[in-house]
Amino acid sequence: MTIQWFPGHMAKAKREVSEKLKFVDIVFELVDARLPFSSRNPMLDQIIQQKPRLILLNKADLADPAQTTKWIDYFTSQDNQVLALTAKNDKSVKQIVPAAKKVLSDKLDREKARGIKPRAIRAMVLGIPNVGKSTLLNHLAGKKIATTGNKPGVTKGQQWIRFGNQLELLDTPGILWPKFEDPDIGQKLALSGAIKDDLLHLDDLALAELEFLRRFYPDQLKERYGLSEDDLFQELPDLLIEIARKRGFKDDYDRASEMLINELRSGKLGRYTLDRFEELAK
Ligand code: GDP
Repeated sequence: MTIQWFPGHMAKAKREVSEKLKFVDIVFELVDARLPFSSRNPMLDQIIQQKPRLILLNKADLADPAQTTKWIDYFTSQDNQVLALTAKNDKSVKQIVPAAKKVLSDKLDREKARGIKPRAIRAMVLGIPNVGKSTLLNHLAGKKIATTGNKPGVTKGQQWIRFGNQLELLDTPGILWPKFEDPDIGQKLALSGAIKDDLLHLDDLALAELEFLRRFYPDQLKERYGLSEDDLFQELPDLLIEIARKRGFKDDYDRASEMLINELRSGKLGRYTLDRFEELAK
């Protein structure tokens, strides 16, 4: 579902997150690993302020591992704790608690020194639409669901999901708006599936996809559609027609565009990262 964000919605989202922040020790900022720059909310620092944060590069199974490694090094060099994550995968999700403890190590050590009994870390999941917030929460809840009930002061209806005895998560994520001023970012969000198609022309998007794949993942593109090197370097609209014909779509440009976009989103074209570290990390 596409949500159109108006100033009123943004103010409300911000307020809701600020309310919840009071109850947690740490924020899990969920980001799409294919878009480590474009899928972050532009005002997050201002919204969460000094609250400790763990950046989770989710959908790491779909992203280019070489790019993910570079982005992790980059975020780490900026004093962030960051983890590549696949929200549906048990082994991956289990890494969250140790990483969160690392972020909070000073606080936990201080509490220990004061004789305070170790307690579960309280966290909230935060991010723009479609980065996998519900998937992660459902996965955690599905394990051993035992909501601890309303706690004093917590927004009515707010529940905690317990994960083992070391982590408690607010059961509703904070949903923030995506970056939308820059058309390039909008296009990348659309290619990842974060923004639905009705806002953009399918064929423009497919041409942008072909340009991207030809530049960064030419072998994946050739292999998927049986293209030669020469095929690859014709004009982009001709390349799209070539792919349409190879798929038996004749000259149906729209059908080919839709197919290309769906195949990229679902990972059929292989793993890819739209936000290139070399271009964006500064
Ligand atoms: P939300 O809007 O942030 O709550 O995002 P959802 O949890 O609804 O996830 C959006 C889409 O991404 C769904 O189709 C999920 O199945 C998919 N998804 C979420 N996490 C992962 C992941 O780690 N890997 C892959 N391949 N897909 C994921």
